[in-house]
Formats: sequence, C-alpha cells, structure tokens
Amino acid sequence: KLAGNASDVTTVELTALPKIASGKVRELFSIDDNTLLFVTSDRISAFDIVMNNGVPQKGCLLTMLSKHWFSVLPELVPGLRTHFLATDLPVGLSDRELSCLTGRTMQVRKYKVFPLECIVRGYLTGSSWNEYMTKGTVHGIQLPRGLQQCAAIPGGPIYTPSTKAPAGLHDENIHPYQAIEMIGEQYARRIEELALKVFKAGQDYAAQRGIIIADTKFEFGLDESTDEIVLIDEVLTPDSSHMWPKNKYEPGREQESFDKEPLRKWLRAMGLEGKEGVSIPDDIALETSQRYKDVFTLLTGQSLNTALQA
Ligand code: ATP
Ligand code: MG
Repeated sequence: KLAGNASDVTTVELTALPKIASGKVRELFSIDDNTLLFVTSDRISAFDIVMNNGVPQKGCLLTMLSKHWFSVLPELVPGLRTHFLATDLPVGLSDRELSCLTGRTMQVRKYKVFPLECIVRGYLTGSSWNEYMTKGTVHGIQLPRGLQQCAAIPGGPIYTPSTKAPAGLHDENIHPYQAIEMIGEQYARRIEELALKVFKAGQDYAAQRGIIIADTKFEFGLDESTDEIVLIDEVLTPDSSHMWPKNKYEPGREQESFDKEPLRKWLRAMGLEGKEGVSIPDDIALETSQRYKDVFTLLTGQSLNTALQA
C-alpha cells in the first residue's frame, strides 16, 4: 500500500521485502543480512512531530543530496568509509512500487549503530543559542561571553553530541564526556575527530557554493569485522543541518535558511508547535519543497530532474 501519489509519498510498504524499521522520515527494508534498502519518504517532522502530509519530492531531494555527499566526501576526507552502496532498486518490485520508489532509495551496508546523534556546530543557532543565552554554555561547554545570535563559534566548530532517544522521546543534549561514558573512550574520541573532519570538509565545499552549513547531525556505525567507524544515515541535508545563504548572512539575528524554517514559522504562528495530527497547507509545503530544491541545486550544481536522470 502506498499512500499519496508519486510526488508526496508518506508511507511505503513493499510486498517483496520485509520492513525492519520505520523512523520519522525513513523506512528500512532488509535486502539481505548485510544490506538495507533505505527509503526516504516525503514525511516531514518539526519539533519532533511528523506532519500528516508530506513535502513534495523531499524524499528524492534528501536521497540525491546524500548520494552526492557520499561521492564527494570520501575524496575530501581520505580514508572515510560510508554505508552507501548504490541507488539501484532491488529486483522484484511492482510497477506501482517502482514509480513511487524511484529516486528515493539507497542500498546501504547495515552496521551496528552508535546510540549517539553526532552533532557538530559551527554557529550559535537553534537550541545552542537558547542554551548559550541562558547559561553561557553549549551542551555544557563554556563559550566566551558576548557572542551574538548566529555568530560563528570562536575557535571553530565544536562536537556536541546528544543521545538517540527511542521513538516518542526527545533526544537529550549531552557533554562529550557523557558520550565517552556511553560508548567508551576509544570510539568516542574517534567519532568526535571524524565528525569534526567531515563537517569541516562539508562546510568548505558548501561555502564555495554560497552556503553556510551552520551545524549538522551525523550518525556513525561500527564495522565489527574491521573495527572501523563508518558514516551512515543521511548526510549534510537540510533535514539534518541548518544551512544559510552566505550572501545574506548577518550575525545578531535569525538567518533566512534553506531548511524547514517556513514550516516551523507557520507552526509557531498558528500555535501548533509540538501538536500531533497537523496538516500543512499546500503553500507552506511548496515553499518548504522549494527551499530544499534551491539548496540541492546550489550544492550539486544540478536540478533534481537532471540528477534523477543521471
Ligand atoms: P530522525 O532522523 O528524525 O531522528 P529517526 O532517526 O527516528 O528520525 P529515520 O531517519 O527516519 O529515523 O530513519 C533512519 C534510521 O536508520 C535511523 O534510526 C538510523 O540510525 C538508521 N540507520 C541509518 N543508516 C543505517 C545503517 N547503515 N545500518 C543500520 N541502521 C541505519
Ligand atoms: Mg534520522
């Protein structure tokens, strides 16, 4: 059963493959013991709640942007390993399934997931700005006084992990020492170093294309056969990052952003923040879709349609 049409796919069931997990945005199907079909729907969440309807083409935009990063980042960060295998669809799907899945799937290698949201922040925005304003810290890390809203963090990006809460619960910001307690010093330090390296490489790449990546969330897995840390999940997308147009950047205020800010703004204005069962009006869904498209084209140098045909 596939709800919605090909441009607004919110639920995905496949007859040929078992579903092993369903997150806020993605559905994971098992291809074999080591391989997952990673399907990104058009669902959108804000304030940790999934909306009733989707954002047209969002799943394709997130998938094709992640694919782009999975090809670019290993060139920029020598030795980086990722879970990406292919965007080919598995065999045995019906025509209807094929038309809904095209452009929104990745085959990925399955790994043991570290229970951390590996957040890296280059700028003070969102929850980090709120914590800084009230306590002068970010995830308990002391920062210099007098920084403005959306200012670059002095000394460069910092690693600020959070726990990966089970469905229904909120992730909790933690200090890096708590990550050490959770997964052990060896892995925690390697993940921190890798997260910072990948973030800085992505930031430089984006800056050359007119975009500031203010912060992001990575996830990492462990290849138990080689003890290597592997970059998994989606990467440097507008769902996992705050991205700003560089030419409009000005600290001291909120930035116009390429992410779900139009939706968040609408929810706030309607008093619907954190409420369940919200349907987004078409104009807000389309405005959000357009932001995702704009950032896609700036980062990849291609329109979505061109990327889908490649
Ligand atoms: P959100 O990202 O909004 O917090 P979510 O994390 O609950 O939501 P989704 O992003 O919708 O879920 O689904 C992706 C899920 O797949 C995540 O739980 C992620 O940890 C997991 N995952 C990603 N890559 C791999 C992989 N290579 N092997 C195993 N699990 C993976
Ligand atoms: Mg996720």
